[in-house]
Amino acid sequence: MTSRPGRAPGPEVDALIIGAGLSGLVAARQLLAAGLSVRVLDKGRSVGGRLATRRMAGAVVDHGAQFFTVRGPSLSAQVDDWTSRGLVRVWCNGFDGDDGHPRYIGTAGMNSLAKDLAARVDIRVPSMAVATRFDDLGHWEVTTDDGTVHRSASLLSTAPVPQSFSLVFESVEGLPREVFDADYDRTLGLLVVLDGPSAVPPPGGVQHPRPGVAFVADNSLKGISPVPALTVHADPEWSLDRWDADADLVESELHQLAEPFIGQASIVEAQVKRWRFATPRQPWSERCWIDDGTRLVLGGDAFAGPRFEGAWDSGVAAAEAVVTLCRSRR
Ligand SMILES: Cc1cc2nc3c(=O)[nH]c(=O)nc-3n(C[C@H](O)[C@H](O)[C@H](O)COP(=O)(O)OP(=O)(O)OC[C@H]3O[C@@H](n4cnc5c(N)ncnc54)[C@H](O)[C@@H]3O)c2cc1C
Repeated sequence: MTSRPGRAPGPEVDALIIGAGLSGLVAARQLLAAGLSVRVLDKGRSVGGRLATRRMAGAVVDHGAQFFTVRGPSLSAQVDDWTSRGLVRVWCNGFDGDDGHPRYIGTAGMNSLAKDLAARVDIRVPSMAVATRFDDLGHWEVTTDDGTVHRSASLLSTAPVPQSFSLVFESVEGLPREVFDADYDRTLGLLVVLDGPSAVPPPGGVQHPRPGVAFVADNSLKGISPVPALTVHADPEWSLDRWDADADLVESELHQLAEPFIGQASIVEAQVKRWRFATPRQPWSERCWIDDGTRLVLGGDAFAGPRFEGAWDSGVAAAEAVVTLCRSRR
């Protein structure tokens, strides 16, 4: 690319997206479908964010989102497509009896859905946005931790809102303090590969089974792992109480929480997982936040609900906003 002396070069893409979690990926797909050029940056080694699946000791373990539900037509259409391609199926209709509402899973783990959405999208990983600037010519400049400067006509950040705030607050006036003041619940989790069946009953998931535990999944009964493996998520209070405790103590206490679900099996391998930004406590009242003046949009599950479908809906709304902002600029 060439540039006039003394002037910054023009934007490389119409829309730059920070975050390749579900919201960012859905938005990227919609923007490409609308004919805009898009680039997505994520600080992780791969796409998916909280849609995370780990392979360990022959097991396949979902360690972020465990399943999802569908209410609206937008996600419903995508689920029909995923189901027809064998990427999604119903796990069960509830964990404490049949309540008639399907719980969907990725047949190869939740992260496989992120990978499917990421196909053919220009994604840069690992690429952590460390600074942003809205320049005099009305373009965004985002600098990543490898020193690259990405230039775009619009910016969509789907990072957790405190991180979005620290990236853009110097460039934008009128950022809503309330949303950035809101904190996220944390989750401490234990992933355990077993040498035999666990004590978790079919269908392989239990919600709030004992004090301190939010959810336990048997990834084998769930149908994603060839060998028995548990995901044990502590609840927000338990996780907050121990967040800064000694790592060995946390691991030992997580093992105590997990013990009743391990039953007679022995542990082959165990790992602790920490989610600092697991669940936004008070979602914003609108599906995204838009600044017309700088063509900045903020999205993610903090805006449309702290779950898979909230992240999806926010990504869709954010993409619509970016399309409008970019078209009004032309
Ligand atoms: C333990 C746990 C269990 C859950 N269980 C369920 C469940 O069973 N059902 C359900 O519906 N939902 C569940 N959820 C919630 C669901 O996972 C989220 O709502 C959804 O995945 C959020 O997607 P997102 O795109 O908004 O955010 P994220 O997935 O968090 O994506 C944001 C992305 O931004 C990236 N990022 C952040 N800062 C930067 C930066 N400076 N530069 C570049 N990239 C950056 C991050 O790496 C991340 O990939 C669970 C979440 C957790 C943590």
